[in-house]
Amino acid sequence: MILYYQKLCLYYLSFLYYEELTVKTDAIPEILYAAHKYGIMKIVKKCKKILEETMCTENVCSIMESAHTFNDTELLRKCREYFYKEPIKCLQSDSFLDLCADCVDNVISSDDLPLEESLIFERVLEWADAECIRKNLELIDSSRRHVMGKILNHIRFPIMESQYFAERVACREILSKSERLAIFTFICSDQKSKTDFKSTRRKGRCVYARSCSAKPNPRMTHSNRYKVVMRFERNGHVTLKNENLWFVGQKADKIDFSCATTVYIHGIVMYGCGVEGADYNAHASILKTGLPFLSNELSHASATIPATFPYKTFNIYFPEPVHIAPNVKYTVAVTLQGPRSYWGEGGEQSITNDGVQFDFYKSTGETNGTDVDHGQIPGLIFSK
Ligand SMILES: [Zn+2]
Repeated sequence: MILYYQKLCLYYLSFLYYEELTVKTDAIPEILYAAHKYGIMKIVKKCKKILEETMCTENVCSIMESAHTFNDTELLRKCREYFYKEPIKCLQSDSFLDLCADCVDNVISSDDLPLEESLIFERVLEWADAECIRKNLELIDSSRRHVMGKILNHIRFPIMESQYFAERVACREILSKSERLAIFTFICSDQKSKTDFKSTRRKGRCVYARSCSAKPNPRMTHSNRYKVVMRFERNGHVTLKNENLWFVGQKADKIDFSCATTVYIHGIVMYGCGVEGADYNAHASILKTGLPFLSNELSHASATIPATFPYKTFNIYFPEPVHIAPNVKYTVAVTLQGPRSYWGEGGEQSITNDGVQFDFYKSTGETNGTDVDHGQIPGLIFSK
């Protein structure tokens, strides 16, 4: 404490004389602590200003923790707003693992966190491991559940995809047997029963989502809200070519499609590639075919898929479902920046899924090589 006091005196003096605080950013929380303790509000204000100005995806969680310590609701709000603007990078940052349980809960309980539940769950599991280590607890599921406390109830298990829930959640002891059964019943039944877990979707644009595993069975990837039509399905599996990987870059992969009945397109499925250390940036558009691009774009979405993403395909969701009129041709175009990706082959021209007939066509104009038979954009996420 004496050290804090001495440091604070120095900063205070320099602040008085020079009206500026020239310190390293990582020393700010310490100074802020001392300035709060001794009620030197001028320095508190200055520290907060520096923290706000230097806020980035790597330090936002540390700043949040400082704001929590001093019960600074305004700074906390700014941290949360920042987090929700860059949710993937903030969630994946090292400092997320250092948050206290209250701060983790504060971030992940909000409807404003625009991420899929599976991603939130995976990261909270990593946080729970870090918390168990801090508390000298054995790294087993019962300890993880113990440290998660109320955080667990804010992970929206009922809206997870059934396949994901079965493969990654239900096989563990994080949830009790009765909780697992209640959630399975909720996911698989049209009659929505009550569970202890929230089942409303989060607001905002879903910029990133887990998709199917390496060999997804489209019947199993249906959530209670969406269905997925996969173009390169063979014997219940989606083909995944990993020789001569698909070149991605400047040109957009495109595929045209029409439906026999009205549907809503929520997003698309893309092939990724598990190259370590390489992120994907994706930009997807959906437009009516045959008219100038900009005037006819119905929706677009961007997504960043971090290198740590553990699956071979990923989803990109549009901000709102896109209305698709019957027997009208639409184009899906996606530009990917990143390493060469997997690709599919043996695509069908006509596929009926859940009573909806989809017809696919080669897109005209410049494309990256995707067509009905092979390439990227293996699936469309839709509802009737
Ligand atoms: Zn905290």
